[in-house]
Amino acid sequence: MYVDGNWIPAGDGSVHEIINPFNQEVLAMAPAGNREDAEKAIRAAREAFDTGPWPSLSGSERGRFLYRTAELIDRDHEQLAVLETLDTGKTLAESRSDMDDIADVFRYYAGMADKDGGELIDSPIKNSISRIVREPVGVCALITPWNYPLLQASWKLAPALAAGNTVILKPSEITPLTSLKIAELVEEAGIPKGVVNIVTGLGSVVGQTLAESCNVDLISFTGGGVTGRKIMRAASINFKKIALELGGKNPNVIFADADFDTAVDYALNAVYFHAGQVCSAGARLIVEESLHDQFVASLVERVKNIRLGSGMDDETEMGPLISAEHREKVETFVKIGLKEGAKLLTGGKRPEQEELSRGFFFEPTVFDECSPDMRIVQEETFGPILTVETFRTEEEAIRLANDSVYGLAGAVWTQNMNRAERVSRSLRLGTVWINDYHPYFPQAPWGGYKQSGIGRELGKTGLEEYTEQKHIFQNINPQPMNWFGKNRER
Ligand code: NAD
Repeated sequence: MYVDGNWIPAGDGSVHEIINPFNQEVLAMAPAGNREDAEKAIRAAREAFDTGPWPSLSGSERGRFLYRTAELIDRDHEQLAVLETLDTGKTLAESRSDMDDIADVFRYYAGMADKDGGELIDSPIKNSISRIVREPVGVCALITPWNYPLLQASWKLAPALAAGNTVILKPSEITPLTSLKIAELVEEAGIPKGVVNIVTGLGSVVGQTLAESCNVDLISFTGGGVTGRKIMRAASINFKKIALELGGKNPNVIFADADFDTAVDYALNAVYFHAGQVCSAGARLIVEESLHDQFVASLVERVKNIRLGSGMDDETEMGPLISAEHREKVETFVKIGLKEGAKLLTGGKRPEQEELSRGFFFEPTVFDECSPDMRIVQEETFGPILTVETFRTEEEAIRLANDSVYGLAGAVWTQNMNRAERVSRSLRLGTVWINDYHPYFPQAPWGGYKQSGIGRELGKTGLEEYTEQKHIFQNINPQPMNWFGKNRER
């Protein structure tokens, strides 16, 4: 682990195995940090914030460190991508694209670091100057999931550092490798010791300690709702600021006038990237009834051709699921779907090929004849499962799409731009794509309505989340007010 500029093992020497989900080989042993390790990292970050140079550097100086980090990510791009693929099972093409995005996030916030010089406001009081400045929040705990290990970390690290905070990053215990590698790059970029600390270990131990600590001022978490609730509860101890990026069960709405071939193609991208283990996966296909048969037939034909395999193989289109437990959870959802009366069109089981038998593979799956009262439609399976529902009117499409406790992202496909605008404004989602699926970039905020979370990452808002606002008022002509005791006779 990387604490206060030192590379250290867990205090009690514990380690846990990091497994390659493609073949179950042990890739590495990572320190299994305990409460004391987390507390040590908190002390280092506290010290670096309270007495170190980082918070008071100018924005442009901090920006230069971030820019250097981006260049080092570019330099080690291939190594980082390979590590991410080995650790998560996703295809190398996906990991490479993640690394491009990660370097861009660092560059974007490097550029933002010196753009907020404060704001003068129109004071209603005569002879005064009133301005608002933004300052770092303090010590930030950053807790990330296993599906986009370094990407999710970069969405937190880059803005937190640009704003002048110090941080403790706690990656998922399943996929810590690229987060440990980024610590090397941060060190090489010259970011002072104690500013970035990485502690590996279990969420219930390291994560919980960070969430409970009164010396942590902000916690930014990406992961599941059950954990989100625990973090929110623990964070209440000192009212630390919280940002939560949680799950989604995202609608992909197809009207009959959509560009057919493109919509079918993107419906596959929407749900099957990283074997469906994507918070914004388009797992609910909502298709106009008149188009349904043709659309689903064409989709299923392509689903049957999806090539499963090692993420390291250029021919592979979909890798394995992350773990044995996760695959069991996905399998349970298939059983639930069948019991609920959904019609299984393809997939729903482990592949039979011998060469895939050591990996946690699961076939891409399509369930037709679904309805909003089904658990497979309402709950996040986080696997390669697509449910299909149909609608007759625009109102019905909107109703089905919004029928979810989540509100992260989704898409609408139509060539009628008035309708596209109407529908996108009616969807209770943090991101709506029109005639596309999945694009995200550092300039646009990311986050969810409803139970998909609190706050936004990326964009200008993603930086503001890591700042406090201070109002500074100056009286430029101070005179006695003589309000109290001025006429009292002794
Ligand atoms: P998870 O909630 O199990 O774990 C996420 C992180 O929280 C891990 O680092 C884990 O160790 C830690 N953690 C676990 N218990 C904790 C506790 N008590 N206190 C503090 N930290 C704790 O989630 P996961 O299974 O790793 O990831 C999958 C989930 O993440 C899905 O629900 C997915 O939708 C969500 N996700 C959301 C987004 C988004 O942008 N909204 C992005 C990626 C993933």
